[in-house]
Amino acid sequence: MSPDRPNLLGMTPPELRETLTAHVRQRGQPGYRARQIEEWLFRGDARSFGDMTNLPLPERDVLGDSFRLDEPAVDTVSESSDGTVKHLWALQGGEVVESVLIPTRHRLTLCISSQAGCALKCRFCATGWSGFGRQLSPAEIAGQYRASARWAAEHDRGPVTNVVFMGMGEPLANRKAVFPALTILNAGYGIGARRITVSTVGVIPGIAALAERPEQFRLALSLHAPVTELRAELIPLEKRYPLDQLIKALEAFNRKGGRRITFEYTMIREVNDDPALIAPLAELAHRVQAFVNLIPFNPIPYVEWKPSHPSRVREFRDRLEVAGVPAAVREPRGRDIDAACGQLRARRHGIHR
Ligand code: SAH
Repeated sequence: MSPDRPNLLGMTPPELRETLTAHVRQRGQPGYRARQIEEWLFRGDARSFGDMTNLPLPERDVLGDSFRLDEPAVDTVSESSDGTVKHLWALQGGEVVESVLIPTRHRLTLCISSQAGCALKCRFCATGWSGFGRQLSPAEIAGQYRASARWAAEHDRGPVTNVVFMGMGEPLANRKAVFPALTILNAGYGIGARRITVSTVGVIPGIAALAERPEQFRLALSLHAPVTELRAELIPLEKRYPLDQLIKALEAFNRKGGRRITFEYTMIREVNDDPALIAPLAELAHRVQAFVNLIPFNPIPYVEWKPSHPSRVREFRDRLEVAGVPAAVREPRGRDIDAACGQLRARRHGIHR
């Protein structure tokens, strides 16, 4: 058995086809075997090569000697009283990451992680406070989907309809793995590009690279403040990629056509919820035709901040709407299991206390 067998779950469909076609040819097997194996990976949910029952037994053994089919291992599953389900995944080398299944009326959204920890240190986000571990691989990113979708099916939650890169990490700071993972989710597992959202705190080269992709993946920008001074206090990356350049990058993204941008705005009491900020926020939203998602701040152990008062959140929404900007309040989900936005920090047996 080769020591570093490639993991098939980290390959895009074209890579997979090339690898498998070469493999079956070398084995003297008919060409359609490659297609059969691919079906088992993307549709058949095979857990091992032994599950691939339409292949000859010896071929299953040889596949197992040549390749891996490794998903992140389930460490813990926690269920919120609101139906949100958090998976804690144990990765090779001891890192852990989280993903969250969020049921709403007509959807089941899966929120996945792109990095173990995060290097960007936004002040309101627990993941940033917990520090950076390492980049995830395409297999570890797409594997969160594969294993979560199976969990959902086995627990009568239906199919995963949407995937958002809003778990731990900054996806556009791990393009090397996130871009192939997008292809795997879309072209492999068949999730429509418009049902996949990449959320970024504003990595401009990543936004430009995403704009170049032909698929209509959605983009969310974690804005959190419509003026640069305030934004810099919350988000250190603002100093490297300031708001005016960020908005230009979003305008360029828009020119590629057909893809709605969302602004995420976490509302923190007396920090970024002054009504005087509504006008500049509306102006930015107009410039890039963004939809604004207002997220009441979820408390984290590292700062004293509190969520904005619900009436203030409503005031923001109503006045944005009056200004012609579509806006919604995102209800916090899974707070009781630390699964809400910004609360993910892979707390495991008290390691991070
Ligand atoms: N790094 C990416 C992906 C993380 S997404 C990004 O920043 O977009 C997680 C979303 O939750 C982001 O919009 C983030 O700003 C927001 N968030 C972080 N901490 C939060 C908190 N404590 N309460 C509410 N939202 C928070």
